[in-house]
Amino acid sequence: MSTLDSLGRPLRDLRISVTDRCNMRCRYCMPREAFGPGHAFMARAELLSFEEIARVSEALAAQGVSKLRLTGGEPLLRGGLERLVEMLASIEGIEDLALTTNGLLLAARARSLAAAGLSRVTVSLDSLDEATLREMSDTPVAPARILAGIDAAGAAGLAPVKVNMVVRRGVNDRSVLEMAEHFRGRSETLRFIEYMDVGSTNGWRMQEVVPGEEILATIASRWPLERLPVARAGDVATRYRYLDGAGEIGLIGSVSEPFCGGCTRARLSADGRLFTCLFARSGHDLRALLRSGAPDAEIEARLRGIWSARSDRYSAERSAATSDRADGAPAKVEMSYIGG
Ligand code: SAM
Ligand code: SF4
Ligand code: SF4
Repeated sequence: MSTLDSLGRPLRDLRISVTDRCNMRCRYCMPREAFGPGHAFMARAELLSFEEIARVSEALAAQGVSKLRLTGGEPLLRGGLERLVEMLASIEGIEDLALTTNGLLLAARARSLAAAGLSRVTVSLDSLDEATLREMSDTPVAPARILAGIDAAGAAGLAPVKVNMVVRRGVNDRSVLEMAEHFRGRSETLRFIEYMDVGSTNGWRMQEVVPGEEILATIASRWPLERLPVARAGDVATRYRYLDGAGEIGLIGSVSEPFCGGCTRARLSADGRLFTCLFARSGHDLRALLRSGAPDAEIEARLRGIWSARSDRYSAERSAATSDRADGAPAKVEMSYIGG
């Protein structure tokens, strides 16, 4: 039975952050100035155990959640993740179990993740050009290593593989056509993501957002595209197909075209806080409840209470109000903490 929030939206998807650590330092997500050697990451004891994550997921599945996504930070840094995948894949009602990763450790893990029951992966890749990728990620990474992870995922059956590219004006917008060309005619679907004002450390400015419409026009001027119908209610990407039959692309226009009206997603941070919006300023602590010996019924009632009180529609309000983030507003939680 679905629980509805105060705006009538059901709860269908849960994003689970399994760690706040990462082996990259993308400037738009974990800038080194804020996430350098002095940063205090969560201590082991603060992290939810796999059993605790599975318990929350089970309680939410009973309330209508059918899709789970493991994320972070970099989820493949959490030791023994395959065991968690196995536990989550066996929960009744879970139809789709996905993982979002930067791909650095994927080639070595794709087969074991698939064997544990993972359905598919999304890999983040912001450019095929090494210097541009370095500018985006502030990490020396060979694009070929991420491409090898993508290939391994496809070969292991973690398909269809999606590839996410965040576009920042003046940094990697010059890579849009090259990325489109590379993934045309391949089995992966490339999705372009507008640079979002998540967190409070990335120095986001509206001028750096390349609107989806502009990305679309750039690609369509080279390879004509047509819009595809919405595949599933709650899908965040607008899909387009190449008229020459070379597959499709997606646009995630969270800044220019907010999709709060259909947002059916909750997020669980690695330390057990439930967030009902990516742009929330605080979350609901579930860890204390889980560790207090509360029975299942109490946990379910708490989750139902949190979701039914939900009224978040940050992106819709942002575009209705001002174009830049308000100075002096309380800090929003970081994406690496809440789970992207
Ligand atoms: N480390 C994994 C990865 O990079 O795929 C998973 C976590 S990451 C926070 C999840 C997704 O959020 C990535 O695709 C990343 O590009 C995206 N992301 C992070 N910060 C963003 C921002 N400010 N705007 C748009 N997307 C962002
Ligand atoms: Fe790490 Fe992913 Fe954030 Fe990049 S986007 S810093 S890979 S968590
Ligand atoms: Fe959902 Fe919040 Fe994003 Fe709107 S801003 S789509 S409510 S996560």
